[in-house]
Formats: sequence, C-alpha cells, structure tokens
Amino acid sequence: RIAAVDGKVNAFLHINAEEALAVAAEVDAIRAAGGAEAEALHFLAGVPIAVKDLIVTIGQPTTAGSKILEGWHSPYDATVVERLRAAKMPILGKTNLDEFAMGSSTEHSAYGPTRNPWDLDRIPGGSGGGSAAAVAAFEAPLALGTDTGGSIRQPGAVTGTVGVKPTYGSVSRYGAIAMASSLDQIGPVTRTVLDSALLHQVIGGHDPRDSTSLPDPLADLVAAAKTGSVEGLRIGIIKELHGEGYQAGVENRFNDALALLKDAGAEIVEVSCPNFQYALGAYYLIMPSEASSNLAKFDGVRYGLRVLPEEGPMTIERVMGATRAAGFGDEVKRRIILGTYALSAGYYDAYYGSAQKVRTLVQRDFEAAFAQADVLISPTAPTTAFPLGEKLDDPLAMYLNDVATIPANLAGVPGLSLPGGLADEDGLPVGIQLLAPAREDARLYRVGAVLE
Ligand code: GLN
Repeated sequence: RIAAVDGKVNAFLHINAEEALAVAAEVDAIRAAGGAEAEALHFLAGVPIAVKDLIVTIGQPTTAGSKILEGWHSPYDATVVERLRAAKMPILGKTNLDEFAMGSSTEHSAYGPTRNPWDLDRIPGGSGGGSAAAVAAFEAPLALGTDTGGSIRQPGAVTGTVGVKPTYGSVSRYGAIAMASSLDQIGPVTRTVLDSALLHQVIGGHDPRDSTSLPDPLADLVAAAKTGSVEGLRIGIIKELHGEGYQAGVENRFNDALALLKDAGAEIVEVSCPNFQYALGAYYLIMPSEASSNLAKFDGVRYGLRVLPEEGPMTIERVMGATRAAGFGDEVKRRIILGTYALSAGYYDAYYGSAQKVRTLVQRDFEAAFAQADVLISPTAPTTAFPLGEKLDDPLAMYLNDVATIPANLAGVPGLSLPGGLADEDGLPVGIQLLAPAREDARLYRVGAVLE
C-alpha cells in the first residue's frame, strides 16, 4: 500500500520495510508454533505502526523534518518505541512533519509537504500530517504523533482519523525531540477510538527516565473504549470554542454530535472559559521561548549537519551561525527569534511572565468548567482542510488553526479528536474534540466510543 500511494501522499520520510517484515515473520512463526510463547504474545503483536519522525529510533534516521538533522541516527530508542518493540509491533517507518513540529499543515517540512488523502491539493494538518495521512490513506493501521498545541488532534480532524493527546506526563516524552517541554505529549493516531485505546495502553504508564512522568498506574483505557456509554454524564459545550469564526459545515457536524450524545442519555450543559481568548497569544510566547532554548543544542558540533563559513576565521560561533543559517527553515528561525526576544532581560516579565499568568487562568477556567461537566466538547479545528499554500505566507492565519486545541496543552489535560462526518460545503472531514480533566483519559474513550 505504501508503494502504491506514498508517491502521491508523501506521508513517509523513511520506510523500514526489511525490519518490519522480519518482526511480522517472527510473530507469525510464534503464532504458528503455538504453546506458551504464542499465548504470551501481546494483543497488538504483529500490528504495524508508523512513527512520527520527531521520535527517536535505533536503526532508522530521525530528522525532525529538518535539514539540520539530515542523516542523523539516534543511538537510543524513545521509551514509546521500546514499548512498541516489546509488544512485537513492526515499525513501518518514520512519518513527515513540519520542521521540529512547528506548524499546522506539514508544509514546513524540509522534505516537501504531505498531502491530504481526501484531496491531494489540500493540507493534511500539522505538525503530524504524515502520521495522520498514513493512517487515512491505509498505509498504516496505527501511528504515533506528538501534540504540543494540537499536532495530533488537528491532523486527525482534517484527515478523518482519531487522534489523542494524553494527560501531560502520562506517556513518556523520553526520546521525543523536545519542542516545548512543558506542552509536548506523545499520543496515538488511528482509525477508531478503540484502536487509540489499545495503542495508548501499550505506550502509556510511568517512565523513570522522564522527570515529568506521572507515577500513577495506567487506567484500563481499552475497557473504557469497549464500554462506550454517556448515561448520566454531563457534557459541556465550551461557549468560546464554536460559533463565530467556525465554518458552517463544521458547526453542523458539531450540532449532530451534540444531538447524538443527548439521544444516548447525556446531559448537555454550556460552560464558559473566558480566558481561552488569550490562550493562543500565551501559547505563541511560551512555545517559542521553550523551543528557542531546546533548539540551542543544534550547534553544528553535536548532531547532524555542519556547515563551515565560506570565508573568514573558523571560530565556533561562525561555524554555529553558518550551520544554523543553512540547517533551519524560516518558521523555525521565526520562532527562535520570537522566543529569545521574549526571554531576554527587560522583556521577560512583560512577555514570558505574563504568558505564564494567562496559563494559570486557562487552568482555572478548566477547573471551573469541570466542576459543571464531566467531559467538554468543541470542534477540533475551525475549518476543514485548506488548500496547500493558502496560509504559508501568513503565520497568524496558520496559528489560528490551533485556537481550539491549544488550551488543553496549556493546562495539561487530555484531548481526543474523532471524525464527526463530512462538511456540507466541501465534503471534507470534520473533527470533534473531547476534553477531560487531567488523569481522566479513560473518560475520553468512554464518550468517544459512543460518538463514533
Ligand atoms: N500548530 C502548532 C504550532 O505550530 C502546534 C504544533 C504541535 O502541536 N507540535 O505550534
């Protein structure tokens, strides 16, 4: 399937066919032999998976979608990858993304854009467009993504797939190349809610190598997805996250989802989160600030690319400058400049400090909302997939795509996007987002299974 369609979709940056086939053959042999070893096989043994190329893997390159890491191989596996291997899941390859996961369209990849399988002239969302497109185009049944401001959920919405951003700290970030460490989470990209629960069950749980990893045992997410009930649950519509600015077809499918939940026995209430209007602004200060610090390690010495200055003295600063000038793309440079500015002496309190205060207000909005509702609901993105190129030269228009997904990252709460049907105007997929309190990821699967 990859050979047949990926020339058009460009979901994969690297295909790991030989190793994946070897793992599949090993699982087949164990099954054929039967006995205790076959019994002990994991429930996802032999099910292939694609991995976003921000997550490090032994034996395959990891580029983060950037020229600066071209040809670099990690000497270690991310914890989530170790867990996939332990379950004997064949790793099909590494998927395309916006450079260092900065973007909402996968057009900022140094290796060319990924295309939306529903319409090849449209974006597959971002930054994890490769993982979402691979699943939507049936190139992989499962994929992993990372979500800092919506990069699992928004691509899920515009490609008609399911994407989950787990509670912050509930899936190890060890081996996910850091973009904004206080916001990043790894999570599943799949075709059904149950598939996401199965994959989440494999990758989740405590990891001593991630200092922000929660100590809690993982809840039974698979059971929650199989139960699928909203009887007696209060579902809260977030007043600020629909209506004006949202495409009519998106609103229509959102209303269908509400009607379905009501029919299934949920109580629909409305909640207000007045500080969400400042969330996007706060995110675009906090995220570039953390990224500017995290990306300082790409210095032309430790990883991948090294570019020497064409003339003049060969000092470390000049090698670093030449490497970073050639190795980073425009969006990454824009955010490094924004971030270093926001963190600089004299501006720190006004920008970074204020943004952190807004972050606390967003958390309080969630606390108040979850006192009135068990699960919150909104459209995942304001529009369906837009044409390639449409927002490439307008960073603000691109950033606005994340208006509904960013609050969850600022507060660390889990979110799930699932297909809500097709928009009337353009026949493209619409995503419905569910949000639950921190550590209550199981609720998302329980409600998601009803909506599917
Ligand atoms: N689109 C958002 C951004 O550009 C989110 C990215 C992400 O979640 N990695 O920052």
